[in-house]
Amino acid sequence: MVILSSPSGVGKTTLTKKIQQKYRSFKISVSHTTRLPRSNEIDGVDYHFVTNKKFNEYVKKDKFYEYAKIFENYYGTLKKNVDDTIKTNDIIFDIDWQGTKKLSKYENLNLIKIFLITDNKEELKKRLIKRNQNSNKELEQRLNSFDEDIKHWKDYDYVLVNKNLEICFKQIETIILNSKNMEF
Ligand code: 5GP
Repeated sequence: MVILSSPSGVGKTTLTKKIQQKYRSFKISVSHTTRLPRSNEIDGVDYHFVTNKKFNEYVKKDKFYEYAKIFENYYGTLKKNVDDTIKTNDIIFDIDWQGTKKLSKYENLNLIKIFLITDNKEELKKRLIKRNQNSNKELEQRLNSFDEDIKHWKDYDYVLVNKNLEICFKQIETIILNSKNMEF
């Protein structure tokens, strides 16, 4: 099970999808969120989009391995989804440092934890503006969270700087394949 965490805009979602496309054994863990879908997002594929009421219900019933409040919305990893998937597949999680901390407490989950960062905050700002998926307020929130996010790099097994997507992808591949003792 691979966790990829990073401040928003570092390229984590692209990298996660690239891994899944090349290594069919990997499934992306589809989280539940109370955030509204973006125009390019599909319910059940990018996230399971749910109401606050539904999310709270799952929390009360202890259905999540982990959940966190991020930028005013809730995000969580459903136990059932993970448990069903690991019977037959590997999993990639695209979750934040709070979720990583909580998942690490489960000894039955065999985790490789990778933290992705950009060179610097300016580069991140450029990428977020280029991505053009956030309102000004969201952009500011995401930039402000950079400083908090990077404080948690020590909780990870690997920290990678995503200067070049292809190189970063190769590095992730190496980490995964080494852990599986596979050859290129
Ligand atoms: P976005 O709203 O940009 O899709 O995601 C915001 C942040 O939430 C990202 O850092 C992403 O990794 C994190 N995230 C997505 N799903 C989960 C989850 O299930 N649990 C936790 N802890 N974080 C999540």
